[in-house]
Amino acid sequence: MRGLRTRVLVTGGAGFLGSHLCERLLGEGNNVICVDNFFTGNKDNVAHLMRDPNFEILRHDVTFPLYVEVDEIYNLACPASPIHYQHDPVQTTKTSVHGAINMLGLAKRTGAKLLQASTSEVYGNPLVHPQPEQYWGHVNPIGIRSCYDEGKRCAETLCFDYNRQHGIRIKVMRIFNTYGPRMRPDDGRVVSNFIVQALSGKPITIYGSGGQSRSFCYVDDLIEGMVRLMNTDDTITGPVNIGNPGEFTVRQLAEMVIEMTGSEAGIQYMPLPEDDPLQRQPDIALAKRLLDWTPTVSIKEGLPRTMAYFRALMTPDDDVGTFDADTGGLAEPVRVVDAPAAL
Ligand code: NAD
Ligand code: UDP
Ligand code: UDP
Repeated sequence: MRGLRTRVLVTGGAGFLGSHLCERLLGEGNNVICVDNFFTGNKDNVAHLMRDPNFEILRHDVTFPLYVEVDEIYNLACPASPIHYQHDPVQTTKTSVHGAINMLGLAKRTGAKLLQASTSEVYGNPLVHPQPEQYWGHVNPIGIRSCYDEGKRCAETLCFDYNRQHGIRIKVMRIFNTYGPRMRPDDGRVVSNFIVQALSGKPITIYGSGGQSRSFCYVDDLIEGMVRLMNTDDTITGPVNIGNPGEFTVRQLAEMVIEMTGSEAGIQYMPLPEDDPLQRQPDIALAKRLLDWTPTVSIKEGLPRTMAYFRALMTPDDDVGTFDADTGGLAEPVRVVDAPAAL
């Protein structure tokens, strides 16, 4: 028989963001089903939750139908790091598109509401800066990032069509670059790469000139915004940007990591991957208004917390896992374009 607890499904729940979300939802007294195929996720991320009787974990690929009885669905399943989503690009598109269809079909059958983890990548290499939700984006439909960008754009389309056609309650959240503990050491994204490189005495790999910018949100802030969005009334569909507007160039990030770790190994410049966006900064006016949400953790506070996590993970004389600290995980044959001279 159904208890009073809200039954929540978190797809991608063993990943970086998903594991923090599961923890938060359990802490609030919910019943949580974590679904993951462990492509980039890891059971270690949720091992500490296993003893909680309100937590369940299912190995499942969201590209296949899933029949569970739930009240809320957070659809996070999808590799988020370029090196991982480009590893099997067809599977990446299937995960976003078939995964969204299955989760929306599940929402339709059960009457659950669904929050879709979308991304700032829907804005592509943006011509409007900072990016407000009204901006339609500037995305290459046939490039090496398209499996992710277009997959996520199509997932947004599906959410809005299920909403208009079937009345499904949806919440589309556009997540900007987020970092923190439980990123994989071999994740390949810039914050984890730089920290792992600095801590293992390897040069920091800057792709291109390092003049490209990103805005980095600490994971706790992101999860707060995510839960607030899910809890809005049914008229709120989004899309809503969630991210930290503090914008830094990749070179500035490298300098901060070097300063905080005292690394003396220097910087190694690598080719800029194709279609790497030049700038990115969220306009969060809508999140402030609808959710009364604003990030609280600055990069100067969030980086040391993330470093502490990686320090604990790494043995003193060892690189972590299979991470290739010399290249940052960027495979040799990646197609490259000339780095812009200056930005
Ligand atoms: P992550 O790679 O750590 O987590 C993704 C999780 O999804 C992993 O546990 C992975 O094993 C799982 N997964 C992948 N394909 C699956 C499939 N077919 N079926 C079931 N599980 C599958 O990445 P993350 O940073 O935690 O990202 C979570 C979500 O947030 C993703 O949808 C991502 O696109 C979105 N997002 C994240 C960021 C960020 O900066 N972290 C930015 C924008 C969007
Ligand atoms: N689906 C699912 N779980 C459910 C209900 C549906 O995984 O509890 C899948 C189902 O396999 C289908 C998809 O969701 O392929 C879309 O469902 P919808 O009802 O929109 O489409 P239909 O079943 O009519 O094709
Ligand atoms: N980047 C870098 N060195 C690395 C990893 C990434 O210079 O070791 C750059 C990358 O080219 C991009 C930025 O950092 O300009 C953010 O990359 P990430 O993969 O973290 O996220 P995304 O490009 O999806 O925003």
